This record gives sequence, structure tokens and C-alpha cells, in this order.
Amino acid sequence: MDLGISGKKGIVCAASKGLGKGCAMSLARDGVDLVINSRTEETLEATAEEIRSATGVAVTAVACDITTEEGRVKVLAACPDPDILVNNAGGPPPGDFREWGRDEWIAAIDANMLTAIFMIKATVDGMIERKFGRIVNITSAAVRSPIEELGLSNGARAGLTGFVAGTSRKTVRHNVTINNILPGPFATDRLLGNIRHRAEAAGIDFEEMKEQRAAQNPAGRFGTAEEFGDACAYLCSDQASFITGQNLVLDGGSFPGTL
Ligand code: NAP
Repeated sequence: MDLGISGKKGIVCAASKGLGKGCAMSLARDGVDLVINSRTEETLEATAEEIRSATGVAVTAVACDITTEEGRVKVLAACPDPDILVNNAGGPPPGDFREWGRDEWIAAIDANMLTAIFMIKATVDGMIERKFGRIVNITSAAVRSPIEELGLSNGARAGLTGFVAGTSRKTVRHNVTINNILPGPFATDRLLGNIRHRAEAAGIDFEEMKEQRAAQNPAGRFGTAEEFGDACAYLCSDQASFITGQNLVLDGGSFPGTL
């Protein structure tokens, strides 16, 4: 299927690894020229080169912390008028809410709520003027089905979800859509780190817990970054212009509800 976005310009935040990288690779395969970002320059450059050589699109790597104003200015300077924006950042650490003070909460809200909102604010009016825009926020299945030790994530991402629910209804008549993708378990460094944390806390072998977790999913496995990226690319397609304000759960069927 031709997604109709070849030649468009896209920003993918937090994209040197994992789900962000999956989105960048899928968009690149559909011909989108990219600005990608993450903090560690070496890994980011390696990913940029991997995408360039696999797809032939232009990829600019901007190494910075996207959760800071300075970082966002750098990324936006490299691509001031994107057609596509994928918001992503590292997730907050797990823990017990009794251990978190104001600093921990502000860091989570900055990373997983305000960063996406400020990136949308900086780009959405240009998209509206040009009559094309696709914005996808990577959130978490925990927005729908909270995970107890990820309270910082549950809270901050719910805030972003509420913002998107309102704003996305204002932009769609200009062919600018805003949607969230809610990952369940995808086999990335982040997921494996969370499993390690749980295994250590429970005194269980990491590999054993990993296999148990994968087997518990209705699909009998974790998702892949490639699957995630392809879903993102579809939401960024020309054809997806009637889809806005949605929360697409990609979890292999873990959430047990009918709707
Ligand atoms: P990952 O494999 O750990 O990759 C995270 C990526 O983000 C890396 O490229 C990392 O590079 C970059 N990054 C982290 N913090 C950044 C920052 N402040 N500024 C710029 N780049 C940053 O993680 P993932 O599994 O893809 O997760 C992506 C998001 O989805 C996270 O918010 C995570 O909580 C959420 N999520 C993931 C799953 C899952 O199963 N994987 C499930 C639910 C939710 P640097 O460290 O070099 O910056």
C-alpha cells in the first residue's frame, strides 16, 4: 500500500532505539525525510546511517535531550516545518509513589506530557496552514490499564491523553490529525529493564520471568518495534485523514475488554 507520504518531512523524537526507531524506519521506508533525535550521539548516528542505507531517505541526527527547551529548539531548527511529528521520550522509572516527591513528578510530567504538548504547539499551526499534518504520540497501554509501579507514567501520560482528546478535534478539519499509540509489551531495552526490575524484586531469574511474561500475552510473545513502526506509519499516511483523537492500543490483545 502506498501511504502517499513520500517526500514529506518528519521528526521522530527519541528514535535511536526501540519504538521510536521502529517508527523512523517505517516512515523512511515510505519515503519520508527525517530528523531523528536521542541523547547519545554515537547510537543516534549509527541509527541514522542504518536508516539512510536501508531506505535512501535523508536523515538528520540531532543529539539532545528532547525533554528540555534547549533540546526542542535544536530539533525544530533542523526541521522547522514538519509534515509528520512522532513524539516520544524515555519512560519514567518504576517505583512506589511514597518515594516520589515534586522533582520526580515534574520530571515525569516534563518528559511524558509537556514535551509532546510543546512540540505540537511549535508545529501544528504550520501544518494547519499547509493543510497536511500527522502527529502521533507514543504513550502506553498503562493509560488504559494502569501498571501499579509505573504511577509516574500512568499519571503524566493521562494528562497528555486529555490534551490530545480536545486539541485533535480542532485540527482535523485542516487535515491535521493527532493520535496516540499505546504500546503494550514490546521487546525493547525499556521493557527488558522493567522485567529485570520486577524479577529482582521478586527474587526470580530474569530469563524465566521474561519467558513467563511473553507467554502470558494472548499472542504468546512480545511485539516488535517493526510492527509498532508500521502502525505509526499508517496513522501518518494520507489515507488516515479521518482518524484523529484516537488511542490505538497495540498489545497483542492483552486488554480484555470488548471495546
Ligand atoms: P527504549 O528501547 O529504551 O528506547 C528509548 C529511546 O528514547 C532511545 O533511543 C533513547 O536514547 C531515547 N531517549 C530516552 N530519553 C530521551 C530524552 N530525554 N531525549 C531524547 N531521547 C531520549 O524504549 P522504548 O521501549 O522504545 O520506549 C519508548 C516509549 O514507550 C517510552 O516512553 C516507554 O515508556 C514507552 N512504552 C514502552 C513499552 C514497551 O513495551 N517497550 C510499553 C509501554 C510504554 P538515549 O537514551 O540515547 O536518549
